[in-house]
Amino acid sequence: MNRQLELLISIQNLELMLRDAEDADNSAEMETMGLKVDTEKIKADLEAQIQEIEPRERGYFNRIKNRVDNPVVAVWDGHCTGCFAGVPTSFSSVANENKVLHCESCGRILFIP
Ligand SMILES: [Zn+2]
Repeated sequence: MNRQLELLISIQNLELMLRDAEDADNSAEMETMGLKVDTEKIKADLEAQIQEIEPRERGYFNRIKNRVDNPVVAVWDGHCTGCFAGVPTSFSSVANENKVLHCESCGRILFIP
């Protein structure tokens, strides 16, 4: 998979982990299960990965995540799993392998799982 896309997926996951960890109820619950989340480590990883994203994609990601819940979603059965709009079949062509593509309907960043 495209490295930029891998980073975007990873950043989305880390941000979700951080949000859960910083949610007081949730983190108390995780501690009772013996899970201690190292938020400093997550923040450091996030920072490093954000630096690796191309500025153009970084700007796009930051804009789209203010609008929608999950800015990076999978394509499933030819559809965006964010808004369920159809994705053109050309999306998965080899020519697009190294591009970061966006849903034409909701604007989310798409990947093929
Ligand atoms: Zn969509």
